[in-house]
Amino acid sequence: MSLKIVVLIKQVPDITRVKFDAERGRIDRSSAEAEINPFDLNALEAAVQVKEKLGGTVVAISMGPQNAAVALRDALARGADEAILLEDNKFAGADTLATSYTLAGAIKKLGNFDIIFCGEKTVDGDTGQVGAEVAEFLQVPHLYYVSKVKEVKEDKIVVVSEMEEASYVVECEFPVLVSVTKDVNKPRLPTLREKLKAMKAEIKIWHAENLTDIINLSNVGYAGSPTVVSKVVVPKEKGREGKVFKEINEGIKVVLEELAKKGLI
Ligand SMILES: Cc1cc2nc3c(=O)[nH]c(=O)nc-3n(C[C@H](O)[C@H](O)[C@H](O)COP(=O)(O)OP(=O)(O)OC[C@H]3O[C@@H](n4cnc5c(N)ncnc54)[C@H](O)[C@@H]3O)c2cc1C
Repeated sequence: MSLKIVVLIKQVPDITRVKFDAERGRIDRSSAEAEINPFDLNALEAAVQVKEKLGGTVVAISMGPQNAAVALRDALARGADEAILLEDNKFAGADTLATSYTLAGAIKKLGNFDIIFCGEKTVDGDTGQVGAEVAEFLQVPHLYYVSKVKEVKEDKIVVVSEMEEASYVVECEFPVLVSVTKDVNKPRLPTLREKLKAMKAEIKIWHAENLTDIINLSNVGYAGSPTVVSKVVVPKEKGREGKVFKEINEGIKVVLEELAKKGLI
């Protein structure tokens, strides 16, 4: 038995440092280091654990600029066997629909697959739509908000899915798309040896022209994106407020009153 597992990896900017270009309504990606979307590290770990249990190959796919090859190299160091970067100017400006259409096209081009793992959402776009849309384009069921992989067999997976107030145990036969939360596992750290090996590994680059037998180019990138962002506003954070008391007893009285009001004393 050899399972074919796909992992969707998006490269995102370090969200704690990134700046926002309010004028153009976009993230200024040059303002911070890029890394694998944290949820996708969990997706990758889940994929590698399945491979280690049942055998198979893990193919990491990312759609993004040339620099996203760095994220794919990291994925190889963490246990992926192959990496494919979908990179082309024609893919630029894609909304979630065009992104999902392109990713699904690449997965179709790979041929048969058993499981696709992805993150529940990204820390930059944060729509949480891509996984479900990829599943729809491929006409396969999807299991969302998966917090635990309970069991994997040669033809099916059993997971715990966190939906609203309840946790569901769901069993699904392959092929299936599984979208994971951060609780599903603890991603491993690559060793120096694994990192060095990944430095030399091949990252396959697929341009739009490599997919024309599968996808319609009018459905990719900006041209294929029905979403229009009319305005983006960066909310102003309310700063901390303070009061200065020159008279110490008055200060203590106010603090005690505030604490009592909040039921803390
Ligand atoms: C009108 C419009 C224009 C945009 N233009 C640009 C642009 O020019 N440049 C730009 O960078 N972004 C652009 N975006 C954002 C882009 O559409 C999203 O980043 C992308 O569609 C993924 O959505 P998300 O980040 O919300 O992913 P989510 O749906 O939150 O992600 C869920 C999971 O899907 C997988 N996934 C998501 N995206 C990818 C990917 N690219 N490759 C592999 N796996 C993935 C990951 O596993 C991820 O955890 C634009 C968005 C809109 C609406």
